[in-house]
Amino acid sequence: MVKLRLRTSRREEAIDVTERVRRAIAESGIREGTCTVFAPHTTCAIAVNEGHDPAVMEDFLNHMRELVPREAGFEHAEGNSDSHIKALLVGPSATVPITAGALTLGQWQSIFMCEFDGPRERSLWVSVTGEGRR
Ligand code: ZN
Repeated sequence: MVKLRLRTSRREEAIDVTERVRRAIAESGIREGTCTVFAPHTTCAIAVNEGHDPAVMEDFLNHMRELVPREAGFEHAEGNSDSHIKALLVGPSATVPITAGALTLGQWQSIFMCEFDGPRERSLWVSVTGEGRR
């Protein structure tokens, strides 16, 4: 397992981590298998979606803000209930197939870490399993 560290710079943002995941796969030597990217946090999430046009993830973040307002009489006293709910909706992980040693994403897909309560230091766990050349 590889641990990726990243620092987010806004309260909400989508950071493309695809290239870092590709490097982790290359270093693993796995040729056929799966790669799981997991966020061990409660207010950020992992998503796979369009990486070609950055407006798609901006629209997503803006829409999530409308869907889950920051103040809505929540019980959780930390003031970040909206962040928890957004992370719950997106989910903590994504699994992508590996074929011929490469991440097998669709043509327009990228892997994003969605920050919902930044800025913070975050870690992602990248687990690569399957058959390799070692
Ligand atoms: Zn909280």
